[in-house]
Amino acid sequence: MTRGGDPLGSLFARIRTEVDATEVDAAVPPAGSPAPVAETPVAPDAAPESVPVSGPTSAPGPEPAPTPATVPVGAAVPGAGAEEFPIAATELVEVVAVEPEPRWPVFSVAESTTLDDAALRRRRDAAVGTAVTALAPRVKRLLQDEQNELLDAARRQKGRRDPVEVVPSEATTVAAWTAVFGPAVDEAYGAGRALGGGRTRPAPPGLTAQLVALVAVPLRDRIVAALQEVTRDGPFAGAPERQRAVAGAVGARYREWRSQELDAAVGDVTAWAFARGIFDATPEGMRLRWVPAEEQQCPDADDNALEPTGRGRPFPTGQSCPPAHAGCRCLVVPVPD
Ligand SMILES: [Zn+2]
Repeated sequence: MTRGGDPLGSLFARIRTEVDATEVDAAVPPAGSPAPVAETPVAPDAAPESVPVSGPTSAPGPEPAPTPATVPVGAAVPGAGAEEFPIAATELVEVVAVEPEPRWPVFSVAESTTLDDAALRRRRDAAVGTAVTALAPRVKRLLQDEQNELLDAARRQKGRRDPVEVVPSEATTVAAWTAVFGPAVDEAYGAGRALGGGRTRPAPPGLTAQLVALVAVPLRDRIVAALQEVTRDGPFAGAPERQRAVAGAVGARYREWRSQELDAAVGDVTAWAFARGIFDATPEGMRLRWVPAEEQQCPDADDNALEPTGRGRPFPTGQSCPPAHAGCRCLVVPVPD
């Protein structure tokens, strides 16, 4: 795992601002999208309060200033090529609170308290595996559509306009991805909630967009960088030559992402939703213990695992719920009193 000075705090702040600004848009799927994400049934007594789920402090401000992450993360996704593909997996995730679960055993004591780590990881892998199987082809189609629309728009550009102008905004990109990821994220989140002893329900509004932004925005940034490079390579003899350069650059970025990152990214998003489901299902006031993604894979996660921590309080790496790092597949589970 590499750690660098990548300004992921600011990347995440940017993502968060965009996501917050477009939450309404994101709730309305674009025309023709198969699966609406909205319709989150929330109990009537649910109080819309802010739950700062991570960050170095637990100050419950409604919109705390994005703090530069104590754990800057810029890690290559396993199996990725030489180019670093940072997933800004820090500072997650402030979203609308879900209704706190009543203290057990109103329903039943959560299974998450009785399973050992190996069994917990198997549950995670099962949930993630199911989600990836369902999602991967849809995400491939999404990427194909994105690529085609981009090239069409570039082709229609008049004169010597900068091709970067045709890249949709982060908000638009995140909204489209959220619509595609929504059902699988809801499912993984619901599976996490069930394991955590809670009632199954879809992911709270905004969570999917925030998780998806962590993988969608870096890909969009790559496309923008590729198009900027095309512009620097110009001027071109004519529109067809320029168009060929644009198509080549954009196609290469998408191809690379599809072949090297797609499965990991889809798995990350759904694993985070699963982890978050367990967290959200855990009644307030309980202690949680950190279950590292794998044993002895990540020293930081192993540190987190040493000390059970009150729900909502930060673990040593600064987060109160995974992800703590790029590619994080860790979990938090309640410790019975
Ligand atoms: Zn982790």
